[in-house]
Amino acid sequence: MDVKGLISKEMRAEKHDVVVVGAGPAGSITARTAAEKGLDVLLIERNQEIGVPVKCAEGVSRDIEKFVDIDAKWVSAVLKGTITYGPDGTKVILSVDGTDAAMYVLERRLFDKVLAQEAINAGAEVRVKTDAYGIIKERDKIKGVYANAAGEDIRIFADIVVGADGVESMIGRWGGIDTRLHLADVYSCAQYLMCNVEPSRDYGELFFGDDIAPRGYAWIFPKGVDSANVGVGIAGDVADENHRALDYLNAFVRDKFPDGDIIAQIYGAVPLSGPVYETVSTGLLLVGDAARHVNPITGGGILEAMKGGKIAGEVIAKAVHEKDFSKRRLMEYEKSWKKEFGRILYAGMKAKQLLLSLNSHDFNKFFHPLAGDIRIKEFSERALLKEMIKRNPRILFSLVRMMF
Ligand SMILES: Cc1cc2nc3c(=O)[nH]c(=O)nc-3n(C[C@H](O)[C@H](O)[C@H](O)COP(=O)(O)OP(=O)(O)OC[C@H]3O[C@@H](n4cnc5c(N)ncnc54)[C@H](O)[C@@H]3O)c2cc1C
Repeated sequence: MDVKGLISKEMRAEKHDVVVVGAGPAGSITARTAAEKGLDVLLIERNQEIGVPVKCAEGVSRDIEKFVDIDAKWVSAVLKGTITYGPDGTKVILSVDGTDAAMYVLERRLFDKVLAQEAINAGAEVRVKTDAYGIIKERDKIKGVYANAAGEDIRIFADIVVGADGVESMIGRWGGIDTRLHLADVYSCAQYLMCNVEPSRDYGELFFGDDIAPRGYAWIFPKGVDSANVGVGIAGDVADENHRALDYLNAFVRDKFPDGDIIAQIYGAVPLSGPVYETVSTGLLLVGDAARHVNPITGGGILEAMKGGKIAGEVIAKAVHEKDFSKRRLMEYEKSWKKEFGRILYAGMKAKQLLLSLNSHDFNKFFHPLAGDIRIKEFSERALLKEMIKRNPRILFSLVRMMF
């Protein structure tokens, strides 16, 4: 955005070590981690309430316990796992060996606030209703962001800017990182929070099939005994005014819960492109959805946002202590996230391409060897992919063929 014309000499200015744009899981964990290391961190959120509106089905594996102490206040349901239905109804029940608690369904309205509060407790400052609208550059160097804080334009100077601004991220683009997405990689989602329904108590349910969700899937995640997140995500290149995610959702709801009631409705997008080519530049890092750190098979991004945020906060702290904000210094973040979860994102991309290339007959054939109960060691994309390959070795051959 060209902000030159908007800058007045009187525009208030302030300076911090780090400004984090966006108070979702990625931003709050980045801010918390950097503040814990003694940095002066400002976390800004454009919405007036952190965690609202919820744009998420809220399912997450127990890996989340590595980043935050679980509190029943923001957990709506504890699940054994998922049940996936192939287009012809083939049922795959996925759970974890030796436990009935493999997954949580969060209450993100509260969860996101708790993460922000943890950032505050670690020493970060959090401001809502503060919308970043441009990057401050001096002699081509990133120096902070322009923001509108409840009606007032301000300049927020910082040694490092973090783009944690979600799927619609502009921070990267303004800072010179190409974050553009192909239409086919942007999943268009519609979701209802429903009550007076009877979802499975123990499992999240996923439904595949061109009639249900072309190039995507529908989901039911229980939020309690009689309520659930019910949603549909379809690939951006099949969505048009006659094929909206909402139309598929309405058809799905008529079929599954004709007597249920809708108490909230949301729309959102999920970037299933695989990671941004480069997630750092001098004085700038991207985390979470802004870096496209979302698993391309499941569409899950909460854990990746938190993992990336923790790594980012640690690297930023080192850079600030060393007063080295160069791209080369910040590349440690890129190398570390690639090591920790990059491979699974790239493998997920290939698996997604493979699955999307199948016609419905072959897609059903893909599900058949998986039918029944599958117990994995941990509820992770890695374990799931391994099991899929074990039961369906053709996948491995096809994946290898796609890679070389
Ligand atoms: C329908 C749907 C269902 C999903 N279901 C799941 C699921 O079940 N499990 C899962 O793991 N993932 C799911 N996801 C993905 C998950 O929600 C995201 O991956 C996750 O929220 C990413 O966290 P984040 O912090 O990167 O971004 P976000 O949570 O999107 O946070 C970004 C924040 O930045 C703020 N912001 C944006 N621009 C600015 C600006 N200019 N200035 C200030 N603030 C700004 C936004 O208001 C927002 O609060 C789902 C997504 C959708 C759309």
